[in-house]
Amino acid sequence: MKQLLRRMVQLLLPARCSACQRTGPDALCEECSRELELVIPRYCLRCGRRRSTHYTSPDCSECHDREIGVLRSRSGYIYNALGRQLLADFKFNGNLAVGQELAERALLRIPVRAARIFDEPQLRIAAILPVPLHPSRRRERRFNQSELLARVLADHTGLPLRTDLLVRTRETPTQVGLTQAQRHSNVSGAFDVGEQWRLRISGETYIVVDDLLTTGSTLAACARALRRRGAAGAYGLTLFSTNPLVHPAERLAEDGFHNVPPPLL
Ligand SMILES: [Zn+2]
Ligand SMILES: [Zn+2]
Repeated sequence: MKQLLRRMVQLLLPARCSACQRTGPDALCEECSRELELVIPRYCLRCGRRRSTHYTSPDCSECHDREIGVLRSRSGYIYNALGRQLLADFKFNGNLAVGQELAERALLRIPVRAARIFDEPQLRIAAILPVPLHPSRRRERRFNQSELLARVLADHTGLPLRTDLLVRTRETPTQVGLTQAQRHSNVSGAFDVGEQWRLRISGETYIVVDDLLTTGSTLAACARALRRRGAAGAYGLTLFSTNPLVHPAERLAEDGFHNVPPPLL
């Protein structure tokens, strides 16, 4: 019924494709949507970002020996040029229709049962939590992009959505352009569990939802805040993720140089 109603509204009020601006039934036309790149099938089993085809370990070059904070993370699409354009339109122009469209497209490929998203049959998720914006940032933007994504996931899985469980305790400057260490200290201690929830999260496991995973610092800071208040831990789920930096040796392998015989001296 909800789908039918949406379809009728779409027919009456044709949308504009966020990428090419042509009018049509959807916020992203079929042609442009082909430029979206799914992270699957080869993703890092820890951070969820794309893994190189020549990389044999189950995690990516950046997750070796790294504490990622969340138990595991999964991601829908690679943050390529189109991803950048669409996410900017969603977040900064307030094009909620394209955010909704992307979330639904990504979730169509994700199993309904949350346990299967992370390949853990015994997994019991207490709730879905969007990464919160600071109240002043939220007032300025008038919506929280992570909350819209989390809502789609909650509808899709039937898990409860809790928008006031995680809170942002201080405003942080944007993470854009910061190194991994700077990102870590920028968001470190910026999150907490809302007072009304503190006695109710003991031993529970959550999924924290964000729009973009770059180094994973934001998800890690949220997971730390949850554990500090007694939760068992958190999984991460993001709409987009950047590609990990390629290790020099791996890049040589990718380029096929490993097959080139050594030069004759
Ligand atoms: Zn288009
Ligand atoms: Zn990784």
